[in-house]
Amino acid sequence: MHLNPYGEDAVNLAADLANRRPASAEELADRCRSAGLVLESPVTSQDVDRVLAVLDEWEKVVDAVDDRERADLVNRMLAAAAAYPRLTDHAGHGWHLHYRDNRQPLGSVLFSLISVGTALHLAGRGMHRLRRCALTECATIFADTSRTGRQRYCSARCANCDAVRRHRARAAA
Ligand SMILES: [Zn+2]
Ligand SMILES: [Zn+2]
Repeated sequence: MHLNPYGEDAVNLAADLANRRPASAEELADRCRSAGLVLESPVTSQDVDRVLAVLDEWEKVVDAVDDRERADLVNRMLAAAAAYPRLTDHAGHGWHLHYRDNRQPLGSVLFSLISVGTALHLAGRGMHRLRRCALTECATIFADTSRTGRQRYCSARCANCDAVRRHRARAAA
């Protein structure tokens, strides 16, 4: 996965893994591969444990009460996860930046990718563009990459469901 300037793929991968936690090393490997990550070494249960701990930290970023707290939490992740940036062409897909040391296990790769990708997304698109679905019973996390930056629901289905509910509430009142 090449980190684009807005960190979009990385922050979407984080949301996908947080919403549906990987249950095994095989599943984690498959889902990372289909997200476009080039796996450099065999994936182990230690990678799964590491990723689950990273996702716990990352969900605190999602649930931060304001921009300041959100920035502090991301900075804490960056301080622990990221190394100095370097150019690499390890996958033969062209030169791109890594914010980590070479030959790291997948757990560490994801820690750095998720931290830097989230920081790029928030700085590039807006600090508020990471949240949970506004439908009360849906806790799905999403990164808002819409043009307007006012996405409130994870899906059209949840948006419709809430619209119907508000309409009924108005009709009853
Ligand atoms: Zn790479
Ligand atoms: Zn939803």
